[in-house]
Amino acid sequence: MQTYDVLVIGGGPAGMTAALYALRAGASLAWVEKFAPGGQVLNTEWIDNYMGYPEGVQGFELVDQMAKHLEGFSYDKYMDEVRSLEPEYGKNVAHMEKTSIQAASVVICSGAEYRQLGVPGEQELSGKGVSYCALCDGQFFRGQDVACIGGGNTALEESLYLSKLANKVYLIHRRDAFRGDRIYQDKVLSAPNIEVVYDTVATRILGEQEVEGLDLTNVKTDVSSKLDLQGVFIFVGLNPIVSFVPEQMERDEAGFIVTDAEMRTNLPGVFAAGDVRSKICRQITTAVGDGATAGYGAFLFAEEAGHA
Ligand code: NAP
Repeated sequence: MQTYDVLVIGGGPAGMTAALYALRAGASLAWVEKFAPGGQVLNTEWIDNYMGYPEGVQGFELVDQMAKHLEGFSYDKYMDEVRSLEPEYGKNVAHMEKTSIQAASVVICSGAEYRQLGVPGEQELSGKGVSYCALCDGQFFRGQDVACIGGGNTALEESLYLSKLANKVYLIHRRDAFRGDRIYQDKVLSAPNIEVVYDTVATRILGEQEVEGLDLTNVKTDVSSKLDLQGVFIFVGLNPIVSFVPEQMERDEAGFIVTDAEMRTNLPGVFAAGDVRSKICRQITTAVGDGATAGYGAFLFAEEAGHA
């Protein structure tokens, strides 16, 4: 079995930075990513809160710039999916679909994926008008009416993006106050074709072959209503991607991996960084910070364990 000092799982900003810091320190490195590097940033059209880009930057361009930092380093890249991780002090084994490898330390940067709403019609009409990514699917709804569900930064940002393509965007939030940042709230509230529907939940997505409408209920008045529309975009938060992590790894009540300030999990030599980690502020900026701390920490651990 191929052995390494450090294994980085995941290719988003946290993973890229963890790999960079481990490599710069001198570690031998394996890097596993299912698709192309970039993670969720690739689904983000415009980023206006990453330091160093005061005018903002496109998601794919930022990823490109980040990936350039790794050019010139030698490491093994596996385009594969980690299926399970067997933790053992200094000898962790990752089983992938195609092969297995061993590493003295591991940095888990597997990120998070969009949560489902769990209402009738959602699964049946997924890809037929139900979407979790405005950048991927927004173009199919040019000039049409769509709904966005959620009240966090993702729902606000994506509603703004969709408002440039769609005829009308209904932003449906279950409370009367948004969770997302004030800067996005102000933009949403001043967009002429975004109508905010507060205190309301979607109860059913309607349509046979494709989305035709949405059943709603006002949670304060219990009054039901129906909207005719062609698209439903769901942005109700994130679930961590942790199917491969060992059972004994400590996680919070939502399943995110618990670490200390040095990104150490409760398993020696296993670190976690970025969105998969239990924390309040999920940002590209914080993912990069986590990645640097974890990548360097993973190198130091490997050195101590006698592999670096
Ligand atoms: P989030 O902040 O957890 O917000 C999820 C939203 O969905 C909340 O408003 C929540 O309502 C609502 N919700 C949850 N379950 C629901 C359900 N079953 N039915 C109806 N509504 C439901 O998730 P997010 O917006 O995906 O953001 C995830 C993280 O990424 C956050 O830390 C966010 O700040 C960060 N992020 C940052 C940026 C940026 O800075 N540019 C952009 C995107 C994401 P309640 O408010 O009532 O709980």
